Amino acid sequence: MSEYVIAIDQGTTSSRAIVFDRKGTIVSSGQMEHAQIFPQAGWVEHDATEIWDNTREVIASALSKANLTRHDIAAVGITNQRETAVVWDRNTGEPVYNAIVWQDTRTQPIVDELAADGGVDRFKEKVGLPLATYFSGTKVKWILDNVEGAREKAEAGDLLFGTTDCWVLWNLTGGVDGGVHATDVTNASRTMFMDLKTLSWDLDILDAFGVPASMLPAIKSSSEVYGSVHTSQLLREVPVAGILGDQQAATFGQAAFQAGEAKNTYGTGCFLIFNTDTEIVHSKNGLLTTVGYKLGDEPAHYALEGSIAVAGSLIQWLRDNLGMITSAPEVEQLAASVQDNGGTYIVPAFSGLFAPYWRSDARGAIVGLTRYVNKGHIARAALESTAFQTREVLDAVNADSGVPLTELKVDGGMVANDALMQFQADILGVPVVRPVVTETTALGAAYAAGLAVGFWKDLGELSANWGEDKRWEPRMDEAERARQLRLWKKAVTKSMEWVD
Ligand code: ADP
Repeated sequence: MSEYVIAIDQGTTSSRAIVFDRKGTIVSSGQMEHAQIFPQAGWVEHDATEIWDNTREVIASALSKANLTRHDIAAVGITNQRETAVVWDRNTGEPVYNAIVWQDTRTQPIVDELAADGGVDRFKEKVGLPLATYFSGTKVKWILDNVEGAREKAEAGDLLFGTTDCWVLWNLTGGVDGGVHATDVTNASRTMFMDLKTLSWDLDILDAFGVPASMLPAIKSSSEVYGSVHTSQLLREVPVAGILGDQQAATFGQAAFQAGEAKNTYGTGCFLIFNTDTEIVHSKNGLLTTVGYKLGDEPAHYALEGSIAVAGSLIQWLRDNLGMITSAPEVEQLAASVQDNGGTYIVPAFSGLFAPYWRSDARGAIVGLTRYVNKGHIARAALESTAFQTREVLDAVNADSGVPLTELKVDGGMVANDALMQFQADILGVPVVRPVVTETTALGAAYAAGLAVGFWKDLGELSANWGEDKRWEPRMDEAERARQLRLWKKAVTKSMEWVD
């Protein structure tokens, strides 16, 4: 009997494969980074072929590290960077253009054009999202409008669109040799094309975007057998049985199955998801409405989401663009070299500001500089910006739900940073809680796949796997918290004033 489930986590900076056992414990993993391509200011691309090559390699490495074969694996789950758009030729399997990444802002003119008729909230009632460069819909349109011959080919039915879950699934299940062209409801809910109620593509919106329906994948639940791995691949004949966008996967991996439960994931960006059960709640405070998960034929579960574009990527920027550190964890020592931020605030609006502001035109700002400020203060302000942004998102969640969260479950690469988590608890005024398994994104995808094939029997079994590792209690006094927040909000106004 197969004792394990494998999750493929196709992330923004890397692709990972992680093998989990029945307790949700990591048995082995493989990971490879892929190139971040920045052709011009505001543009961010990935090579989808490199991503697929890396995916195969990380699967091989995760299996070999634990001496496993395909017979040990009950199912494959997929989780992915959401909104990143790949368009490829169904006859050759070749992408027609690099994948356009969720952070990319080149589609602002498309957003403006569509918003000219009805404003940015034109489709919000149906899809839960404002018009913004973030979502994959405008990116597909850009490829069709700008890549030579793409529109003609798409109209002839030769091109396929998908987010990277869909790209990996299609390739894993055979590619040009009968690959399954499908995505799950959570990824589909980030395109701007899916009606949240019917969970199907909305033809009027597709029409407004000028995107042919024939390119779109079938929308499936997050937990069902979509197909099996093609005979040419290492995991041949293993069922692929779970797909969740990364943030929904992390919520699932944190076992936040009930209404009112939430998690915040600190990776490249930072994303807070708040479960609203089977109810579609429209935010009055700048949050998105999205699908949380859907298990087979059961009703969909929805969520409110606060998306923050730049969190860990600001630390990478200190490393790669400013050369202040040589690795991300080094930021901890640098930040610890000073007592406080020295009056410095960084608003990292590199891709505009996402929640709760949704201002694509905002740009980054560093304010409060004096001759006293050194790189320690900059490091500290960089870390603190993630905590302040999270506070603003949590305020929006509390205002929408009317029932304030009493603690925050966290995960992602940045939660290894103890000082940041303490500051986060201080700025929120509620405890921050980290689980034992912080690879909740991969775990959530494994859970969805394992449930579909009966590897795990129900949600109760998954909840029982959740264990607390560490808790940070707020220690900052109320007056200091209020002062910090006031200065932060003032800094945010500067980033919104800086419009070219
Ligand atoms: P993703 O899944 O989005 O690729 P991860 O969850 O793997 O991201 O987190 C990686 C991010 O965490 C990177 O952006 C990196 O800069 C940041 N990071 C890693 N270690 C630390 C640390 N000790 N302190 C602050 N940020 C860190």
